[in-house]
Amino acid sequence: MKYRIKFLTILIVILVISYQLSVVSSFAYSPRFIRVAIVQDAVSLSLRVRGSYEVFDSLNQKVLYRGKNLKTTVTASGGAILMGMMHFNANKIFIQPKKDGVIVLDGRSFRGCIQFIQKDNLRLSAINFIDLEDYIKGILYHEVSHYWPLEALKAQAILCRTYALYQIQESKAKDYDVTSDIYSQVYGGKSSERYRTNKAVDKTQYEVLTYQERIFSTYYHATCGGHTQDASLLWRIDIPPLKGVSCNFCADSPHFSWHKVLSLKQIKDALLKLGYSDCGTIKDIIISGRDKSGRITYLKITTNKKDIKIPAKDFRNALGPNVIRSTNFDVKVVDQDVVFVGSGWGHGVGLCQWGAYFMAKQGYSYEQILQYYYPQAQLKTRAD
Ligand SMILES: [Zn+2]
Repeated sequence: MKYRIKFLTILIVILVISYQLSVVSSFAYSPRFIRVAIVQDAVSLSLRVRGSYEVFDSLNQKVLYRGKNLKTTVTASGGAILMGMMHFNANKIFIQPKKDGVIVLDGRSFRGCIQFIQKDNLRLSAINFIDLEDYIKGILYHEVSHYWPLEALKAQAILCRTYALYQIQESKAKDYDVTSDIYSQVYGGKSSERYRTNKAVDKTQYEVLTYQERIFSTYYHATCGGHTQDASLLWRIDIPPLKGVSCNFCADSPHFSWHKVLSLKQIKDALLKLGYSDCGTIKDIIISGRDKSGRITYLKITTNKKDIKIPAKDFRNALGPNVIRSTNFDVKVVDQDVVFVGSGWGHGVGLCQWGAYFMAKQGYSYEQILQYYYPQAQLKTRAD
């Protein structure tokens, strides 16, 4: 009980304070907790808790039930949330295990507590309210190999933490801050924790990357292929740490170069997807321009009916970002085939992960790695 009150008090106070002050965007008021949507629109969920737990109403914090060792199925039924035979007349409830307890939801283990939300369509969402540091432990393994040098893992931990805080600022009006899939950062809960990634999180506890005292969206990607990208060419963000730097560190990355052969039909399908219907027969694909990093800005696709000028980033997205791995490529039409030979993997903004790997191998510290890829950014430790 004592722990629950403490946990909730901290949670509510921090959320309220951080949201009220989030316009300031200062790292000093960073939330300690994050809300991760781990399941959305489920008909039923299997739930297991070992040891003591409490169920309480999200709105008034009233304890609805106290129990020990739970193994059940959670469903929704007009105005109530059901856990097996137990009916809770609320649209949003929390389940909170005792200190250090773990909740197993649909076979995955989670720290913190879980909120079940009943939707109008009688489907359920499950939101994991979790300490931010524990959250980073649950995502790091998915972002980078846990066998990588510790300094590279530490740099990645700081980027994940900063990116998560940025997401929290952007999601004030929602029931959750981030999802647990690739649209945010992949989060596997306690099941995804590893010794070395946990160590990297602990060794950089509360450290975030800032620019002019504010956190920013710390993008990263697998391999830049020689030069990182200026974020302002892709999105509406124009700050010195994200203007792009040359990178000689990723030359031995397994993703430094790539090649792909597609058919003209696949290119035509991509054009249809982008809204270019009735474009005729494709004759050639010509590179119209490149930016200072070597990435293509525009492509000109000539057909027997017209010429189509298309941003390279849209072209890549339409064909699939894992099919055309970067916008830095040469392209040639050979009969019915289109041959691509390119460099790097990813959008290219921010840290080059394989560059960081080789920097760490060469003895650079995580501070030096971050300074290199994010010029003028500063590391700060959250004030407690
Ligand atoms: Zn690189």
